[in-house]
Amino acid sequence: METRKPMLSITRRVRFAASHRLHNPELSDEENARIFGRCNNPNGHGHNYVLEVTVGGEPDPQTGMIMDLGKLKDFLYETVVVEVDHKHLNADVEFLRGTIPTAEVIVSRIWDLIERKLPAGKLLEVKLYETENNIATRTSSR
Ligand SMILES: [Zn+2]
Repeated sequence: METRKPMLSITRRVRFAASHRLHNPELSDEENARIFGRCNNPNGHGHNYVLEVTVGGEPDPQTGMIMDLGKLKDFLYETVVVEVDHKHLNADVEFLRGTIPTAEVIVSRIWDLIERKLPAGKLLEVKLYETENNIATRTSSR
């Protein structure tokens, strides 16, 4: 039987405010209104998003850290927050171009954006709170 080792991880939380509109141009206005409801509002609407990024592994024996949380914070600001904060996600954000920017699409694109820039195998989970109650999560498949 495979024994599961306890996993050690640390999480950094960052926040951004952005607007979006859930709308599929391939569908009629009526279908869009039916599927997306209030989130289909023609001029968009906003959220105060909370993003949590979790990295895991063993602490470096020299520092006691899996990763320097200050450096992770700076990395997330430079890579993600400056791209999305106070932007319209449908129109202004290169890594979301052509998508319907639901929480699950945003979290998945953020994963793709940061995963390749972090040390291999470190990223465990990316979690996006669109509201207090609506949360999308992408996790490592290992
Ligand atoms: Zn929304």
